Amino acid sequence: MKTVSTPTKIWLSSPHMGGTEQDYVKEAFDTNWIAPLGPNVNAFEQAIKEELGNTVHVAALSSGTAAIHLGLELLGVGKGDDVICQSFTFSASANPISYLGAQPVFVDSELDTWNMSPELLRKAIESGIKEGKKPKAIIAVHLYGMPYKVTEIKAIADEFQIPVLEDSAEALGSSYHEMPCGTFGDIGILSFNGNKIITTSGGGALVSKNRTYAEKAVFLATQARDEAPHYQHSNIGYNYRMSNVLAGIGRGQMEVLDDRVKARRSNHHYYKEQLGQFEEIEFLNEPNGYFSNRWLSCILTPSFEIREKLRLALLNENVESRPLWKPLHLQPIFSTAKHFVDGTSASLFERGLCLPSGSNLSNEDLERVVITIKTVLS
Ligand SMILES: *Cc1c(COP(=O)(O)O)cnc(C)c1O
Repeated sequence: MKTVSTPTKIWLSSPHMGGTEQDYVKEAFDTNWIAPLGPNVNAFEQAIKEELGNTVHVAALSSGTAAIHLGLELLGVGKGDDVICQSFTFSASANPISYLGAQPVFVDSELDTWNMSPELLRKAIESGIKEGKKPKAIIAVHLYGMPYKVTEIKAIADEFQIPVLEDSAEALGSSYHEMPCGTFGDIGILSFNGNKIITTSGGGALVSKNRTYAEKAVFLATQARDEAPHYQHSNIGYNYRMSNVLAGIGRGQMEVLDDRVKARRSNHHYYKEQLGQFEEIEFLNEPNGYFSNRWLSCILTPSFEIREKLRLALLNENVESRPLWKPLHLQPIFSTAKHFVDGTSASLFERGLCLPSGSNLSNEDLERVVITIKTVLS
């Protein structure tokens, strides 16, 4: 009997260590800084600050979700408030709205960047104001590393004087007209989860040009302790600070961030070169002035059926791919939330597929993905 061996698994986006991470982790052990503070946390924050052009203050936290939670609280979101959120995103963008007892109002995407539509954002705000309930904040997302329409979104936010929380979880290393993503919102957030462009296994950061926000984030993230010799509290606090051990991983990862962006962009370039001639496959191009880290390389097919054919063929080859994010207004948990949509993200979800995008994919891995797709299409 002939045995068929399974080819090795190709992951969608797996961690990729640079080599110096363990030195910093060892340093934490050697100096006994096994705590949610210490030299690695400080140095990691400094490295992020430099990466973002020294224009922001940084608070390293336990996750991107924690950063969004604190960010919304700092922007004054509370019980009963409406918060506008891009619908086409991961649920973690919106979950913290619910933690605070507020309600999400979902806004659909446009097709140039797949991010928040400025027209629908305006509609959502005007509708809220008409009903006597001005939205308290706007969560805009640089999905898959592609910057959202920063100028247009900011103009509307400024016009109505609503603060922006910039979800840059997927966009470290991306930029908009040469300015780094993470620096555009009143508050920005980053994620260092295991699947992101760099990782601390789990982790995040809150960044802001406003020093007070970053300082208050650290205060709230460390149980909101007032200055006193005993434990004194005038606020409800959280345990959201980043561990000094994990920040050691982050320090090492920051040293290779540029290489990681190059590798992911090169994956995207290869897919486009190899698959761009098929009329069934479309890519999201960078508009003028937009620079994406290409965290995930995504393709758009003409239909759900073709998308599924490709996904299943890849699965059969032990290649992990994934449909694009399911819009949050279509998620069961948010089915009763207000939404301003025109079908764009629903269609992207139906037709789109994320291909393996890790910075550690070999040429053979990439070829295997491409050959599988070509076999289905030809
Ligand atoms: C990963 C991610 C988050 C959450 O970050 P965690 O560090 O995993 O909590 C939030 N928003 C988006 C768009 C993400 O991709």
